[in-house]
Amino acid sequence: MIETISNLKQIKETLKSIGLRPTIQRIRVLKTLYKYRYKHPTVEMIYDELKDELPVISMTTVYNTMNVMVNKKMIQALTITGSDIHYDPNAESHHHFYCNRCHQIYDIDLKCPLCARKGRKIQGHRIEEMHGYFKGICKNCLKKKKGGKNA
Ligand SMILES: [Zn+2]
Ligand SMILES: [Zn+2]
Repeated sequence: MIETISNLKQIKETLKSIGLRPTIQRIRVLKTLYKYRYKHPTVEMIYDELKDELPVISMTTVYNTMNVMVNKKMIQALTITGSDIHYDPNAESHHHFYCNRCHQIYDIDLKCPLCARKGRKIQGHRIEEMHGYFKGICKNCLKKKKGGKNA
């Protein structure tokens, strides 16, 4: 679903479908979110990327656009760092790994029996979504450490 949403027409349609007028600013906000989807950008990261070429844009515009997208379940908000909100254009339930060293957030694809079964019950509660947060040192940082240099 994320791969198919990269062109302008689809971005405009996505915005319309969630009741937002497809303004240049919102289009650019979404483009930037998809462009950096593997980084799981924050409002600030998206704003910083756009502010020079789009001086009229505000943090509020970015934040509001993200908020509507989250409420409509088009994207998800991650609170894995405990301080900043990171956005993920992949709205499907999946897990994340946060590197304590380089602060990168990675998607984790776990095929656990609970994740696979939407509607399954846990201690009497019906599961609709499941998100797991893992924290530690990522594989890239581990490699750097082994090399001994530039760690
Ligand atoms: Zn790392
Ligand atoms: Zn993700």
